[in-house]
Amino acid sequence: MRQVYVNGEFKKEDEAKVSVFDRGLLFSDSLYEVTTVINGKLIDFNNHMKRLDRSMTELKFKKLLNHLDILIFHRKLIELNNLKEGMIYLQVTRGVADRSFDMPKDKIEPTVLAFTQEKKIIDSESAKNGIKVMTLDDMRWKRCDIKTTQLLYASMAKTEATEKGFDDAWMLREGYVTEGSSSNAWIIKGKIIMTRQSDNLILSGITRDVIFKCAKDLGYEVVTKNITLPDAQSASEAFITSATACVMPVVKINASQIGDGKPGKFVTALREEYIKQALESSI
Ligand code: PMP
Repeated sequence: MRQVYVNGEFKKEDEAKVSVFDRGLLFSDSLYEVTTVINGKLIDFNNHMKRLDRSMTELKFKKLLNHLDILIFHRKLIELNNLKEGMIYLQVTRGVADRSFDMPKDKIEPTVLAFTQEKKIIDSESAKNGIKVMTLDDMRWKRCDIKTTQLLYASMAKTEATEKGFDDAWMLREGYVTEGSSSNAWIIKGKIIMTRQSDNLILSGITRDVIFKCAKDLGYEVVTKNITLPDAQSASEAFITSATACVMPVVKINASQIGDGKPGKFVTALREEYIKQALESSI
């Protein structure tokens, strides 16, 4: 049984509690971060914390946590659960208040919870074979840049894709690819790597940022631009990025095979470079 973290305490997973009046539960008035763990160490932790700060500022949450305290309980969770490879999920809600659409005028104490989940990160089957994605209308709200737990449409999109025999969904808004259900979307044409510019319609991924650097280190050019579905389907390679997927090749978009239907050489090299840099900088 796992030990989880709730508001400063470690509890057995079946003993941890949050209030039924928590605004995270009632309104998805709530933020999260997922930090990957490899060899028992945290990947890109500081950047995840910077993004959490930004999300908290955007939603005007009461500030209570410093990064060192968060690092300490992340490490404790790794130790208590003997986590070697997987992730730590961290959620911060605005807190507990009587149910009202009007947010409490005085800032209330955020609820903080975190838990570990095991997952194969490096030796993932999907990374070896690549994944198939289908496109769906992006029906999410227009503040996708804030990492809220308002994830129902992303969850519906992923479910629809898997029910139809795909691994994931890429979403389209006004004819352009925004992102995956829980990842950033990329294509490669020749030696140019492309992804959508970061704006309010996508989450600016922590992995995405690191990939800009890895791509440059490998001598590739990265361009941020709007990508249409025909652009994506005629790419020589395609991939997604996220903390737990790292760099994951995409080998099919709807009915179109990408490249020869196997993970291509640029994506494979990027994945290796990303994992190398991630391990070197893990804490
Ligand atoms: N976009 C969305 C919608 C996501 O949910 C995620 C992962 N949570 C990402 C992009 C990738 O972000 P990161 O690289 O920080 O995991």
